[in-house]
Amino acid sequence: MDKAIINRLLPDNLPLVADIEAKYPQRNLKDGVKVTRIAPSPTGFMHIGGLYAALISERLAHQSGGTFYLRIEDTDTKREVEGAAALIESSLSYYDINFDEGPIGKEGSIGSYGPYVQSQREDIYKAYIKDMLETDRAYPCFCTEEELDEIRRKQELNGVVRPGYYGQWAKWRDMPEEKVLQALDSNVPFVIRFKSPGSPDGKVIVHDILKGNIEFPESDMDIVIMKSDGLPTYHFAHIIDDHLMGTTHVVRGDEWVSSMPLHIQLFKAMGWKTPKYGHIAPIQKNDDGGKRKLSKRKDPEASVAYYDEKGYPKNAVIEYLLNLANSNFEDWRRVNLEASYKDFQFSLNKLNNSGALFDFVKLNNISKNVISLMSADEVYETGLEWAEKHNEDLASLMKNNPDYVKNILSIERGQGAKNRKDIATWEDLAGEIEYFFDDKFDMSYDILCEKVAPVSGDDIKKILNDFMSSYDTSADKNEWFDKVKAVADNNGFASDMKAYKANKEAFKGSVADVAKIIRLAVTGRDQSPDLHAIMIVMGKDRVFSRINNIISA
Ligand code: GLU
Repeated sequence: MDKAIINRLLPDNLPLVADIEAKYPQRNLKDGVKVTRIAPSPTGFMHIGGLYAALISERLAHQSGGTFYLRIEDTDTKREVEGAAALIESSLSYYDINFDEGPIGKEGSIGSYGPYVQSQREDIYKAYIKDMLETDRAYPCFCTEEELDEIRRKQELNGVVRPGYYGQWAKWRDMPEEKVLQALDSNVPFVIRFKSPGSPDGKVIVHDILKGNIEFPESDMDIVIMKSDGLPTYHFAHIIDDHLMGTTHVVRGDEWVSSMPLHIQLFKAMGWKTPKYGHIAPIQKNDDGGKRKLSKRKDPEASVAYYDEKGYPKNAVIEYLLNLANSNFEDWRRVNLEASYKDFQFSLNKLNNSGALFDFVKLNNISKNVISLMSADEVYETGLEWAEKHNEDLASLMKNNPDYVKNILSIERGQGAKNRKDIATWEDLAGEIEYFFDDKFDMSYDILCEKVAPVSGDDIKKILNDFMSSYDTSADKNEWFDKVKAVADNNGFASDMKAYKANKEAFKGSVADVAKIIRLAVTGRDQSPDLHAIMIVMGKDRVFSRINNIISA
């Protein structure tokens, strides 16, 4: 195309392609070193699937000693939401998915392949588009909306299977230059289209690192690469960026699989090396007897924000996602209790490729394990941070009684795999702390009787009295339990479970019933962590005053 026309289509002060290529030199990578990225569009919603892809990309890069970067794809201004890019950055940093290169705040960035926000790279895309116009790989199209509708209508009428702008329908593909000039003179808005080298009957086999080889019809669509507002389309901008930023592996959602033939064709048309592509199946959930994708509209757990609100520690979410991706993570974790998840060798080959299934039971179990391995101080700090945002009552209870609460949280910790595993989320924390405080504690003689029926009220009182008489603050756990057994024996309850099971009629109950009576009187709960440890933390006075309240009823 004539240079003078091209200069009317695009500004003439654009950088030269050769200078751009020189400014973003190819990365010098050793064998096996990967450069990955996530390239979200700032739509204001962070999907858990996005975090999943980010984690996988980050692990792939960093495990190989490579680079993981963030690029904001904001060329679709209609979809853009204020503050969305900041949400992406803060979510990644909250989850410790640290990018080596990318935007920082509104203007800043780290890395020398930036800017990492597409709207700040307009001149770069235009420079390549100009080059493509000069070398007949692109052309302007002045079709109005009405004309495009007309093409669609005709295609429908003629029973054309594939609607779109291609082949005989590509009206401006070979338009004589004087027509272009006329349109320019009349100020008709235009877009720039890619002149697809694909043939309508051609087939291509593309390779996906997760799905293997896939055969597609060759792409022959003359897609828009620059919109009438001068901004590039996603398809075009992202291949320019993946090239300039030296991406070696693109791991992204399944919804882009069908665009692979086009993307690879664009790479080839530019004469560039194509990155390797891996398309991940979406996370699914069981619903109504079938499976479906997690839905942004229907499922709160589709949003990354949900996990923070519920109080899942960030590592629990990350470990859960790793477990979804590589099911052997769980075995690894069992053997490497204290190791950082970053020491786990993540493998793309083991990726669950049929669509990992979201499972709350699993998430809660993983979260219980993660919390069980935290120190009491860590539980206190992280739990308090959550409570300050989501449960003011709990936050003030914790802040006003830091030592007492830390002692509470120390119960059954520091024993590795044997640690207490009763807290799945920080939402559970209130229930684990509050009963240690008298104003939150709730148990009466009547309720206790109901809960341990048919044990008589007299027996209950006698058991509690005997327990207090024998209670010794210096007794260790075994000695303490021996005393509880003795209370059982003295009151006609079997201290030996075997003997009890062999002849239940001979006893009023067993030591388990005795322990339950004491537990209910002291904690108000049927279940609790180690009762001996609870009593030490509560102190004798509090334990006795609770028991005395019951007895005196
Ligand atoms: N901007 C695209 C999205 O938000 C990214 C696709 C890609 O990773 O190439 O889905």
